[in-house]
Amino acid sequence: MSNYQSYLKDIRSRIKETDVAAVRELTERPGQTPIIDVREQDEYVQGYIPGAVWIPRGFLEQKIEDAAPDKNALVVLYCASGNRSVLAARSLGELGYTNVVSMAGGFTAWKRSGMPWKAPTVMTKDQEMRYSRHTLLPEIGTKGQIKLLESKVLCIGAGGLGSPSSMYLAAAGIGTIGMIDDDVVDATNLQRQILHNIERVGMHKIDSAEKTLRGLNPDVKVDKHKARLTSDNVMDVLARYDVIVDGADNFQTRYLVNDAALKLGKPVVHSSIFRFEGQMTVFPANGSPCYRCLYPEPPPPEEAPSCSEAGVLGVLPGIMGVLQANETVKLLLGLGETLAGRLLVFDALKTRFRELKLRRDPKCPTCGDGVDRSKIELIDYVQFCAGA
Ligand SMILES: [Zn+2]
Repeated sequence: MSNYQSYLKDIRSRIKETDVAAVRELTERPGQTPIIDVREQDEYVQGYIPGAVWIPRGFLEQKIEDAAPDKNALVVLYCASGNRSVLAARSLGELGYTNVVSMAGGFTAWKRSGMPWKAPTVMTKDQEMRYSRHTLLPEIGTKGQIKLLESKVLCIGAGGLGSPSSMYLAAAGIGTIGMIDDDVVDATNLQRQILHNIERVGMHKIDSAEKTLRGLNPDVKVDKHKARLTSDNVMDVLARYDVIVDGADNFQTRYLVNDAALKLGKPVVHSSIFRFEGQMTVFPANGSPCYRCLYPEPPPPEEAPSCSEAGVLGVLPGIMGVLQANETVKLLLGLGETLAGRLLVFDALKTRFRELKLRRDPKCPTCGDGVDRSKIELIDYVQFCAGA
């Protein structure tokens, strides 16, 4: 018998062991008994016992007190096959823990018995490096970054506002970015639509957007919707995402997005730009106040000049789109205070932000008193603005 085996045998004789079935019972009363997974990262990422706390063996002594503050309470340890957990149990005994047990057979026995297990989302080494300036912020941390990686955001329009918002969202590690646009890149876009470039004139904006976003961050999956939002597709498209970033250049789409988001209970980060002025707000998931509290009905066509007629300062959508990305990240992480109930107005000529209070209108046709949101009818208004 080798030295290691006699050593292990000796320790095992002094450590209490439990079996898979007993641990299964403990997992059904979550939060009561700490179940500690002492395996290494490459083992943990392949699956773990739901409810277990992962502390690799090398950090066990250092981190156990957070996971198991009561040294006299039951603590269960497991590893892959039940050997390392025996050695780990001995170390905890030396630290003063009096009731530590090792799960015989380890995770291998657990899986073989057909017990439920989960595969965690963990960041790769590359991701740890890429997002380190996020994870260094205690308000975000690894948990927040994983949340972003698992998030799905829809950017409506791959144009002036959609360019900066989608690029910053991609850089931030939003795992899925949906883009919807039916247009192709033309030379007049390049004054502000930085997703695209001179070599992509004539290319579909959605394909150009995917190239830029994936080039910036290969973690990002781009859902491509080469379409215009209509009452036929809006529910299906919006339903797939956590947050909707509205960078539409026309009233028709804004009303559709507002009404569909209210039906689905999705938050909308809204912005619009005109000449030297930008506006933005957040219509929260609970839907009030909404876009129709602000503008109950679309303006008559003659009062809604398109961007191609009116012109727009190229930097302006850059500023507003970045602010949209900021609101989106906050909504996803539940951080800070959003613009819900506040309309932010930016005057690029004076470099001045103003804020107006937005109140829910009790008579609002879509979020007012007594309105059954499931019965809101989606309307395709006649189009006003032919591409910005
Ligand atoms: Zn409303």
